[in-house]
Amino acid sequence: MAKVQKVMMDKEGYVFSIKDEKQDYHTEFGVVKAKDLKKEKVKTNKGKEFFVFDATFVDKFRKIKRVAQIITLKDAGVIIAETGLNGESLVVEAGGGSGGLTVALANIAKKVISYEIRKDFSEVVKENVNDFGLNNVTVKNKDITQGIAEKKVDVIVLDLPEPEKAVDVSAKALKQGGFLVCYIPSVTQVIAVVEEIRKSEHFILQKVCETLQREWKIDGKIARPEFQMLGHTGFLVFARKV
Ligand code: SAH
Repeated sequence: MAKVQKVMMDKEGYVFSIKDEKQDYHTEFGVVKAKDLKKEKVKTNKGKEFFVFDATFVDKFRKIKRVAQIITLKDAGVIIAETGLNGESLVVEAGGGSGGLTVALANIAKKVISYEIRKDFSEVVKENVNDFGLNNVTVKNKDITQGIAEKKVDVIVLDLPEPEKAVDVSAKALKQGGFLVCYIPSVTQVIAVVEEIRKSEHFILQKVCETLQREWKIDGKIARPEFQMLGHTGFLVFARKV
């Protein structure tokens, strides 16, 4: 899949992704000529107006190649905010999956090491990282429960079916005060990992939470929540290494 180079946005905020600027762009609202894609404001042959700009991180994220369910931006945002990870941070994550979380973390962190047990998926992570132009990621086609080679890690994020199996190895890799974050779809898995964290003398459980984002419709006299909502993505478990 070619990477998204530019986007066209209509007045309602709807985004069309452009992967090849050298070709005319066809939409259900008509065609934009390739030469016009260099302009900031364009019209299709049917008269529909669009604004054109370079694709940003979030524009690319929405179009990322998916082989496994990717993390949402709202959940990635909470992980980044609650751990305070920054340009100095060494981050380990597993499983790589489609690389959704990988690129979200690598967009902020100094270095991200991504463990992915499946060879085919680890190749997709590499491909997506490359499409985002990120060069601070190392992808390891490995089972994280077998050990984490990195030491003094600032943040470890686990997005895999049995995170409790990676609690011990995470304790060895994290620096004192470092964060273990688990992103988990089902509460039975939350209980399993929380039990393991509580059993460990190397972790203090800080928080179990979920994040709901409700969009609102604001249009004239209408000002109310949207009827449709993404009801559930995953729970987040935060623990600190001691
Ligand atoms: N965070 C990813 C999605 C992860 S899906 C994203 O945003 O794109 C969960 C992934 O964990 C799957 O790809 C699966 O192959 C991988 N996985 C499961 N067990 C694992 C293990 N023990 N070590 C490494 N990867 C594992």
